[in-house]
Amino acid sequence: MSETGVHSREIHIRAISALGDAHLQEAYRSSTLRLFTGRVEAASEVPGWELLRDRARAIKHDVIEHLDYYLAQFADNVEGLGGKVHWAANGEEACRLVCDIAGRAGAREVVKAKTMVSEEIELTHALAARGIRSVETDMGEFILQLAGERPGHIVAPAIHKTRHDVSELFTAHLHAERTDDPERLTAVARRALREMFAQAGMGLSGANFAVAETGTVVVIENEGNIRFCTTAPRVQVALVGIEKIIPRFADLGIFLRLLGRSATGQKLTVYTSLLTGPRRPGEDGPEELHVVLVDNGRVATLADPKMREALFCIRCGACLNACPVYRKIGGHAYGWVYSGPIGALVTPEFTGIEQGRELPFASTLCGACREVCPVKINIPDLLLHLRSKAQEMTRAPQPKDSPVSERTAMRLWAWLMKGPRRYALAARLARVGQKVFARQGWVRRFSKFPLSRWTEGRDFPALAPKPFRDRWKELSS
Ligand code: SF4
Repeated sequence: MSETGVHSREIHIRAISALGDAHLQEAYRSSTLRLFTGRVEAASEVPGWELLRDRARAIKHDVIEHLDYYLAQFADNVEGLGGKVHWAANGEEACRLVCDIAGRAGAREVVKAKTMVSEEIELTHALAARGIRSVETDMGEFILQLAGERPGHIVAPAIHKTRHDVSELFTAHLHAERTDDPERLTAVARRALREMFAQAGMGLSGANFAVAETGTVVVIENEGNIRFCTTAPRVQVALVGIEKIIPRFADLGIFLRLLGRSATGQKLTVYTSLLTGPRRPGEDGPEELHVVLVDNGRVATLADPKMREALFCIRCGACLNACPVYRKIGGHAYGWVYSGPIGALVTPEFTGIEQGRELPFASTLCGACREVCPVKINIPDLLLHLRSKAQEMTRAPQPKDSPVSERTAMRLWAWLMKGPRRYALAARLARVGQKVFARQGWVRRFSKFPLSRWTEGRDFPALAPKPFRDRWKELSS
């Protein structure tokens, strides 16, 4: 059974542990680089990529500003097609609703397709408490369920697991032979899952998009497991975060083009399933379709006009792959389901600023996340907003969070920055002082605390030989 609760306040401890794990460092480095490069190449092949991003952003902006209207339209259309819509204000309510549906269906086993909302509300634990076994059917999630871990990445949940790790897990839990061959490992998982698909009384999926105009739930994937989950069992439940709405069916093309490319560098994911009501006479599919619309902190996010933008997210994971902090500390350091720059925004919003107040500070504000986001969310701006919210909440200085040396250094820095003359003088002195340490533009090692702490982990950029103000004077003369 996987970890529960929010552990975002432990980000420092978890980050230090991740930084000291060479195996983890290599796994995150190579995987995020592959995904990042894939996105760059895929995006460069699309004429009008920027226009596509602008259009997607405009659609999301419209949806979030009129969410009540579009949600009502979506719910009416689902019910008009014979589906049943349920509204859940929080995770507890969502879990109760899903457990009740499973109970009425007489399901002892539930097959789950990848759904971040179910991770968010800890549905597996709620089902287990009612004696219902749920099995993850996405390969990555299946591996994590065996390992008792949470996802390390939004679109590649087992990003931190090597073939060897997977083989060890399959040997321990499924009595499979040891192998590092991905095809044989996949065959082991497939055998175990086929049995579950055949006997499960209920299927559960998430939603990448929910089309208001047609009442369609859209799920995309690469493995075919979601198609199984949404068609084989008699009863189907879709867990949908309320921000997943898009207005028109025609909008889907825009988002599908952006999502596959931004997430994995694919033109389109292998399967795109459109669930429009339960099955009709002569069709395959579930007899009952339930859509659970989940709030769980989203309405509270809407209440802050600045933070609304975080709800534009289409969960492509591109900001994680671009983020220098995520790439070093990995997904588990963030202490909840969502990680990386988007996790640093939605965790404090969905779980409460007091739970996730450290997260907005886990960023260099370099802007790489904003550059890659397909819906152009201004993530650094929102992180700054959350930082000030967090500071307001804890107005008193946080002796535990920032050491005296850091606070003194920051005060001194602020004082220098406020006086151009003293700043120029200090820079001149520093330039002379650094001669002892600097080689080829970098200081490799400071011998004295506190700067020695910096160079223990990375090089320090030396001051340029000539200050900008002197170069500017030369250029303008
Ligand atoms: S914030 Fe943007 S880049 Fe990050 S997951 Fe969401 S849509 Fe993708």
